[in-house]
Amino acid sequence: MQQLIQNLIDAGYLKTPEIIRAWRKIDRADFIPDDVKKYAYENTPLPIGNGQTISQPQVVALMLELLQPKRGEKILDVGSGSGWQSALLAEIVGETGSVTAIERIPELFALGKNNLEKYNFHNIESIEGDGTALIKQAGYYDKIIVAAASDSVPEVLKSELKVGGTMIIPIKENIFVLKKIDSEHFLIKEFPGFLFVPLIRD
Ligand code: SAM
Repeated sequence: MQQLIQNLIDAGYLKTPEIIRAWRKIDRADFIPDDVKKYAYENTPLPIGNGQTISQPQVVALMLELLQPKRGEKILDVGSGSGWQSALLAEIVGETGSVTAIERIPELFALGKNNLEKYNFHNIESIEGDGTALIKQAGYYDKIIVAAASDSVPEVLKSELKVGGTMIIPIKENIFVLKKIDSEHFLIKEFPGFLFVPLIRD
């Protein structure tokens, strides 16, 4: 794991000390099914069942660096899958923050919850369901991160984000960074050239 982290630092993907500290504490191998565990430290996505993958380390690193999670924040992780990224977020936000990890495929929800139990987090709420349906009230989350690609930004997610908050969401083959400047307006940056599984709205 340490070699993978060093490679991501050297390549400029991992930069922020708090994010790097979390990567050093959370072992990706703890989130990977036994049949592919030997590839845990490769910079590649891996199958986790039901046609889904644990994301590629460099993409998780890039998205976390764009999100800039901070201690004490409330973060929504849509498409939590294996639970790896949720664990990284929980480590960064700490006991004063919280992570809502939501996954719509029941088998993967169980897998992710089980994996997260290997760490003694008290700040993760795991939910089985559609992350694009309303979970909390408007303006609840400081940050939102989505692991599957949509055609447009779901209105519910725009509303759940607080003013001043940041959302990272793949739209088709681009990663979008949205900063909410007031209840109706967002500053948007786009990073092209990524492949994600589809965001399914139930
Ligand atoms: N961060 C996860 C990981 O590394 O294991 C990513 C898993 S995968 C790339 C994306 C996940 O999003 C899949 O498990 C898929 O079932 C889930 N997903 C797709 N649409 C969803 C939705 N509307 N609500 C919740 N989960 C969704």
